[in-house]
Amino acid sequence: PDPLPMPVHDFPPGALVSVLTPDMPLRALDYLAPEGGVATGAWVVVPLGRRQVIGVVWGPGAGGFDPARLRRIDTVLDAPPMQEELRQFLSRAADYTLTPLPAMLRLASRVPGLADPPQMRRLIRATGTLPARSTEARARVLEVLAELGGAGVPQADLCRAAGVGAAVIKTLIAQGVLTEGEVPRDLPYPRLDPATRGPELSSEQAAAAAALRAGLRQGGYGTTLLKGVTGSGKTEVYLDAVADVLAQGRQALVLLPEIALTADFLARVEARFGALPGEWHSGVSPAERRRLWRMSAEGGVGLVVGARSALFLPFRDLALIVVDEEHDTSYKQEEGVLYNARDMAVLRGSIAGARVVLASATPSLESWANARSGRYGRVDLGARFGTAELPDMQAVDLRAAGLPSNRWIAPALQQAITARLALGEQSLVFLNRRGFAPVTICRACGQQIGCDQCDARMVEHRFQQRLICHQCGASKPIPTACPSCGVEGRLAALGPGVERMAEEASALWPDARVKVLSSDLYSSARALKEDIAAIAEGGADIIVGTQIVAKGHNFPRLTLVGVVDADLGLQGSDLRAAERTFQLMRQVAGRAGRAERPGLALLQTHQPDHPVIRAILSGDEEGFWQAEAEARQMAGMPPYGRLAGIILSATDPQPPFDLGAELVRRDGPLRAVGAEVWGPAPAPIARVRGRHRVRLLVKAPKSCALQPALTAWLAQVSVPAAVRLAVDIDPQSF
Ligand code: ADP
Ligand code: ZN
Repeated sequence: PDPLPMPVHDFPPGALVSVLTPDMPLRALDYLAPEGGVATGAWVVVPLGRRQVIGVVWGPGAGGFDPARLRRIDTVLDAPPMQEELRQFLSRAADYTLTPLPAMLRLASRVPGLADPPQMRRLIRATGTLPARSTEARARVLEVLAELGGAGVPQADLCRAAGVGAAVIKTLIAQGVLTEGEVPRDLPYPRLDPATRGPELSSEQAAAAAALRAGLRQGGYGTTLLKGVTGSGKTEVYLDAVADVLAQGRQALVLLPEIALTADFLARVEARFGALPGEWHSGVSPAERRRLWRMSAEGGVGLVVGARSALFLPFRDLALIVVDEEHDTSYKQEEGVLYNARDMAVLRGSIAGARVVLASATPSLESWANARSGRYGRVDLGARFGTAELPDMQAVDLRAAGLPSNRWIAPALQQAITARLALGEQSLVFLNRRGFAPVTICRACGQQIGCDQCDARMVEHRFQQRLICHQCGASKPIPTACPSCGVEGRLAALGPGVERMAEEASALWPDARVKVLSSDLYSSARALKEDIAAIAEGGADIIVGTQIVAKGHNFPRLTLVGVVDADLGLQGSDLRAAERTFQLMRQVAGRAGRAERPGLALLQTHQPDHPVIRAILSGDEEGFWQAEAEARQMAGMPPYGRLAGIILSATDPQPPFDLGAELVRRDGPLRAVGAEVWGPAPAPIARVRGRHRVRLLVKAPKSCALQPALTAWLAQVSVPAAVRLAVDIDPQSF
């Protein structure tokens, strides 16, 4: 990359500057610029009370303090200054989510060793030729070095890889064959070669790719919905846009909803561009995170693939953000700062002047509506690539299946699985419920076992031999006696979970290899990744899985998907239930028949005539979105109206309720913009980790200035110390 522009020292020594630190509760504080001055955006260390904390120079000071009492910036850190673009993004994101700016800055300063000076490391490189008649060990050292690359290798790694001792290296250095030198620890990433050719695109794919490239050429912000069934080549198409960005020497970010998907993606990038991209998520080592953070700021990385927090990296020249599986609910951060990474990607793109691509087979209603209204562009891929066809989808009517109690695989699904086993093909039995059984009940007293800390049932996990609360994660051994009445041996596990489905499958097909894929059975993303790879290669005959199998994994031998309970997501009062069920069922069915073999999806249901089930089976997607959009429009619900949730929680139930009631009484600022507030009511899960939760729901017209109204409304009350108040703009369920 070109050298970074020299930081402009906007502020001479002693000037009044405002410094934002992640450690302050609400806003920036004034400091004096240090000797040598300081630039806007610089990372600095400042005294705060008795502590030293890091922060960013945010702009000129606010003034109004006794100058004699102002403290001075301690150190200007040797880190790339935060650009105007990122500062604006943080500030707009804070406004949008009603998050204090310091908390937003925290998301952008989660980098290990930010305050440490750039470190050097000693690396060994080959700088001469081996003298004739050198030992075999010495020759091996040079071979290994050639393999490990020209940039250099730490001595310990070299010794290990070549199987030699330090003495051999020492001799080679003395001979001038090797040289040891100091190299910065945070090296640029290997360049991705945009000319490395991807596969030849079909005409439809080529047209889609051309549309994305045209957007990039046009420059400036723009969002495109890239819609295409699973396997239609969305990834190939957006990688083509990435190639364009790389060719211009600019930067691209690809967000994936789940870490376990990255391995596949990294391999594809490496195959296509000849090197690995930068990787950013919780599983990446601190040293690599630090390197990626610096390189994204210095332009030393062209492509970053990551989890939602990668949105807060200090990219130097971001040209493209791809949000893959944009409808995925895991893009919503539900703890700490509540934000939806898909929406924040669009916000960052609009500030950075970057193109945003939202890719999905089953877009969120929000994105679908934005494409329809013309706010987003839309590019469709209709067909699966090559010969692969979308699976045939059929309902299995459970009312007519005559299943005995405690059995869930209906005869029609059984026959289909038996047929696949005979052909040596894989089947997926899908049930979106972790554990063995959702309910543990005492047959003597009728009580269900619940969590002590939450209003939630304890779920039996037979593999782990424990009862687990899916809200707080608390667990205990499965008791033999009822905790309520003390009677021994009458506890019964009711209802199906994936572990129980695996048991049923093993009983029906004793010779088949049954494998359970459920997030709780994996302690690391790596273990999950390995199992998925083994299954893809044929390491199982029947896969029993939760929604983790629905997400983008590629199982070429899978030709049958059986959904145990297609009605599961339709229960309850959540207005998104239809949308979610439609997305999930289409995603799961899309797992079948990705290679040359055609697929079949069987949906077990008690209500085959339910409009959502019928829409899933008919595949009339536009018709479904249309109907769903009309229903939401009539109700004034998102995306045609706006919602905000206010969650009040405390260890006592009364204070949150009282505060909620007071807020409802003082709803003037809301009514002034045409908004209304509902509640207070117990939150969907009324107690979590011992805290009672009360919810208010604010419903507002689409066009109103909701955030300022909320701010004015909330400012009227003082929140007691015991009560926690969280604002959830655009809540996921309503
Ligand atoms: P999606 O992202 O829509 O699920 P992918 O891009 O993963 O689809 O494509 C599905 C499979 O088809 C992948 O294995 C991909 O490599 C392959 N594929 C897609 N388009 C082409 C093409 N034009 N030529 C060769 N293989 C392709
Ligand atoms: Zn719990």
